[in-house]
Amino acid sequence: MVVVPLKHHRMQFPREVIVGHGVIERIGEISRRLGFTESALIIAGSKTFDVAGRRVKELLEKKEGMTVQTFLVECAGTRDVEAVENRIKALKPQIVFAVGGGTKIDVAKCSSANQHIPFISVPTTASHDGIASPLSSIKGSEKPYSVVAQAPLAIVADTKIIMQAPWRFAVSGCEDVIAKFTAVKDWKLAHEDRDEYYGGYAASLALMSAKHVMQNVGLMKTRNEEGLRILLEALISCGVSMSIAGSSRPCSGSEHLFGHALDAIRPNHGMHGERCGVGTIMMTYLHGGNWKRIRNALQKLGAPTNARKLGVEKEDVIKALKMATSMRPERYTILNKLNLRGQSYEHLAKATEVI
Ligand SMILES: [Zn+2]
Repeated sequence: MVVVPLKHHRMQFPREVIVGHGVIERIGEISRRLGFTESALIIAGSKTFDVAGRRVKELLEKKEGMTVQTFLVECAGTRDVEAVENRIKALKPQIVFAVGGGTKIDVAKCSSANQHIPFISVPTTASHDGIASPLSSIKGSEKPYSVVAQAPLAIVADTKIIMQAPWRFAVSGCEDVIAKFTAVKDWKLAHEDRDEYYGGYAASLALMSAKHVMQNVGLMKTRNEEGLRILLEALISCGVSMSIAGSSRPCSGSEHLFGHALDAIRPNHGMHGERCGVGTIMMTYLHGGNWKRIRNALQKLGAPTNARKLGVEKEDVIKALKMATSMRPERYTILNKLNLRGQSYEHLAKATEVI
């Protein structure tokens, strides 16, 4: 009898997730409970250190008697990751605290994973699902998209702190969640057409998060802390769905490929969620879905729905649509299935009023 070895599927989850007003004050207790009582390294930006990092340091040092070092980063490039890794090697902390928005968390996640120590995510914005996912996106690396690093051991999301960030960040976070509508459709398509692994549970979780945000668009509009809590829970669920899937599949499809392409063409124009949001309008159209419903929701949120509002040219949008599949050739989506050519890209952008 031939014994076929079972395929391994590894899932890594956060052990503690705390979301709410003022929860940063509990950072010492969380650290202690997880067994980190001696040393820590805080990775933050200069602004996010002021917003939350300093308080984390104080709490760990004064109340827990821990030795806490700080390392400030401003970008999320390969050099930043290398610098943090060198810091980890020199200081040998038990745990890394990632205090910041997307970039700081990405750097801390990637460098701590490379150095085989855990990290705790302390987001200061709710602008995308990277605050809770096991994936990190590093500029200047070979891949223009997120790659698997490690899941945070804990997430401490203090809504009182996150409320201080411009509301545009939260809107971007909502869009990153709404993008799961097309991401999940693309994943299912890859399963049907290419026999790619598809995890129904992970897909449902991502989809449920997107529905939840859609249902609460009205509340989000009022810019209150309760809306932010709902968004954070949705972003964290998306992160967990990627942990279950073992990849970004449930959360990143053709709309993200468009977003990545647009970011490559026009760096620093619009936020991650904003680019993906506009992508979701167009990809919903391609999937034969109700793209107007997506656009209405984005409009209600005050999010950009066209090239002008994104601050890019019409040509950039068309170029990004053409480039999207090449951003990640192995990721099969509706764009591969329809294999658009020539004028079809322009037609798509015009039909959805993106240009
Ligand atoms: Zn995203």
